[in-house]
Amino acid sequence: MSETVSFSQELWATVLPILKERVGQATFDAVLKAAVPVDYADGVFVLSVPNDFVRRMLEERHGALITACLQELTAENLELETRVVAATKPPLELLERAPAPASPTAHLGRQSYDSFDTTPLNPRYTFDNFVVADCNRFAHAAALQVVRNPGRSYNPLFIHSKAGLGKTHLMQALGHAIREQHRNLEVVYVSAENFVNQLISAIRDNRMAEFRRRYRHVDVWLVDDIQFIAAIEGPASEEEFFHTFNTLSMNDKQVVIASDAPPRQLQMMNDRLRSRLEMGIVADLRCPDVETRVAILEKKAEAEGIVIPRDILEYLAKKVESNIRVLEGALLKVCAHSSLNQGPLNLSVVDEIVADYSTSATEHRLTLKEIVEYVSERFHCPLVDLVGPKRSKDIAWPRQVAVYLCRELTDNSLSDIGSFFGGRDHSTILYAYNKVGDLVTADEKILWLMNDMKAALRDH
Ligand code: ADP
Ligand code: MG
Repeated sequence: MSETVSFSQELWATVLPILKERVGQATFDAVLKAAVPVDYADGVFVLSVPNDFVRRMLEERHGALITACLQELTAENLELETRVVAATKPPLELLERAPAPASPTAHLGRQSYDSFDTTPLNPRYTFDNFVVADCNRFAHAAALQVVRNPGRSYNPLFIHSKAGLGKTHLMQALGHAIREQHRNLEVVYVSAENFVNQLISAIRDNRMAEFRRRYRHVDVWLVDDIQFIAAIEGPASEEEFFHTFNTLSMNDKQVVIASDAPPRQLQMMNDRLRSRLEMGIVADLRCPDVETRVAILEKKAEAEGIVIPRDILEYLAKKVESNIRVLEGALLKVCAHSSLNQGPLNLSVVDEIVADYSTSATEHRLTLKEIVEYVSERFHCPLVDLVGPKRSKDIAWPRQVAVYLCRELTDNSLSDIGSFFGGRDHSTILYAYNKVGDLVTADEKILWLMNDMKAALRDH
């Protein structure tokens, strides 16, 4: 073995434990373990990997992290290169230097991954703990319908939202409820990342039959963060997912998918898969309004057995708008502060504690004009009529819908909306808004229509 090779091995052995900490046991086992350092010369660190799939995973998902760690260690501006060498086998002594996982649960993770076990449901993620409001009413109703009738009514159920808005919570609540109400059904929850890691291991270890037995015979399959599969180039994981999905849905097994984007925005190569994902029901979760954020905080505080004055909850809810996970983090930080210092909580203390929480949502804010233009297109109704004085029936309904959407999707006041709609009075606007709002609660078709229009507008 040449000098450079042993130095590269030395480096790799040093960097492995750090990487393992960062990527977690499953990814470590599936991806990093499969790589072997073969050379480090002229600022290029070369890893050999057994197949193209591992190469892509390494480069695309973890390349930046690996490079950064190596650069840190060597204080050199090195580059990472990966080569596929079919017979790549990592020397054992290298891997042994990566320490065993520290926590008992990490150890369990390793065992369960070996037998393709899936992640247990989080006991806190139940329907009881889920606050229902306009931002999630539709997805919540769809989830309940799936619980009543798994595999029959909405299949697949596709839930999407930005991060931290309750996809995992809702999906697992559905899992808990099915387990309670249909005891004979096997419910399996897996993150797409875990699914892919297990798949790689299965390919590597010739255990595909076992892997397929694991996933193709479940009654209810909950797949979280599907965008992970979409983000990986290369067909293996996507195809395996597609076949699993097809097998299950052909047998009337329920599939529930969570994603950070709607199906049509998933960069999956297979158009068939994308359209299959849209064939059931697609429901999105949106940022809750401030009252809902307060309600979620109240629920959370109650669950944790802590009492926080209402004005403080309101303050937090106003401060953190766009991510419930971040909002809960802020609450916990405030709780920790108050229990440590035992001093009275007041707004200026709270303000200091959560000063570093970024506030406003960065998403594109829709304008009244954009909304009304969309409604005009969708209902084939001229924009001038929507904002004009005409009172005929065929214009009244699209106008009410437009008003409803303006109120739901923007922060404009009733009078702002009123002046946009040709100087209408704020009570007229409120009337239109309530009218559509009532229909949304009473009529599933209207709920569906509004949900669809909102989703389309947000993707605008
Ligand atoms: P996502 O999967 O969309 O990133 P999570 O399901 O992990 O989001 O939710 C983030 C946090 O917010 C969790 O602690 C969850 O319990 C909480 N949460 C989200 N939506 C609600 C809700 N409607 N009611 C109560 N808690 C919620
Ligand atoms: Mg999630």
